[in-house]
Amino acid sequence: MRPIHMVDLKSQYEKIQAEVDAAVLDVIRSTQFINGSEVKKFQEDLENYLGVKHVIPCGNGTDALQVAMMALDLKPGDEIITTSFTFVATVEVIALLGLTPVLVDVLPDTFNIDPESVKKAITPKTKAIVPVHLFGQSVDMEPLLELAREHNLHIIEDNAQALGADYIFKDGTRKKAGTMGIIGCTSFFPSKNLGCYGDGGAIFTHDDELAKKLRIVVNHGMEVRYYHDSVGVNSRLDSIQATILRIKLARLDEYAAARRKAADYYDQAFKDHPRITVPARSSFSTHVFHQYTLIIKDLNQFELQKFLGERGIPAMIYYPVPMHMQKAYQDPRYKEGDFPVTEMLSKSVISLPMHTELDEEQLKHITESVLEYLNQ
Ligand SMILES: *Cc1c(COP(=O)(O)O)cnc(C)c1O
Repeated sequence: MRPIHMVDLKSQYEKIQAEVDAAVLDVIRSTQFINGSEVKKFQEDLENYLGVKHVIPCGNGTDALQVAMMALDLKPGDEIITTSFTFVATVEVIALLGLTPVLVDVLPDTFNIDPESVKKAITPKTKAIVPVHLFGQSVDMEPLLELAREHNLHIIEDNAQALGADYIFKDGTRKKAGTMGIIGCTSFFPSKNLGCYGDGGAIFTHDDELAKKLRIVVNHGMEVRYYHDSVGVNSRLDSIQATILRIKLARLDEYAAARRKAADYYDQAFKDHPRITVPARSSFSTHVFHQYTLIIKDLNQFELQKFLGERGIPAMIYYPVPMHMQKAYQDPRYKEGDFPVTEMLSKSVISLPMHTELDEEQLKHITESVLEYLNQ
């Protein structure tokens, strides 16, 4: 059997090696490493794919979130509502900018932010909501968009994990995750759905004025060279990453289909087990399976992780410690027990290998091993 990886970037690369190698060499020979034509072309390709007016490439997904909040002129004291069950970057940038993170619980089936809890958390100081499309599925956006309209709030979508997923409105309209809020953010970290071979990220918006501002913020607060009208950052995507991303973007839907096929295999194997809940597939979103995450009753996750590891199967726990329980984000407003769903999930989730290159032999070994552990 081929070795099993959490994400098999090597096998995926080998299938596009000739194309990638030639494109990377072209960039090197052009010596247009920064702001080259490949970056502009990738930007246009992604705008077309997402159906969004502006894509602003940047250095990584964390920068994308930070730049979004800077461009919206959010100020210390402003409250930003987000989820306690996420990767730290979402909460980190809120704290870094001196804004106040207001955490809320998630829904047990999708792991995504609970619109009812968001509604209850809105105060006169609330300025924005940051929904995170976790593990490859869009948040239920319609209730959040309604709340945002009603209370005049910005929605900044953290779409680092669900690039390519479609949100389906009640009237049947489809929009890509990341293109429904005032700003959407994504990451091209190598293991993400659209991963480059280093760091990368992007910001999306339909708003012309905001796009202009975002471009100024990522470029040292500079519109005219060496004239700085606002404090900015330096955050850019380089041409080598852009050329690789163009090649992979053309295959993004094919990659999602390959992951969905692996997810179907997992679902079949696990769906009838009394202790296992397989990932929900909600009616309002397609699933692009950034992660395949099981909820398992009465589980010692670390013991299962070790058991699988001994059989050559990597598994990960996303996320073992909710944000309100992290040392760095301790806050007298929060204590253990405040977010029961998040806390339950952090104790009972386990993510299995999920990527485009899983074959049936590997999937069989993984599913049999998980069931062996649970049935022993
Ligand atoms: C990966 C990720 C980020 C950050 O992306 P980087 O490119 O690693 O900075 C932000 N939010 C979520 C939910 C992520 O999964």
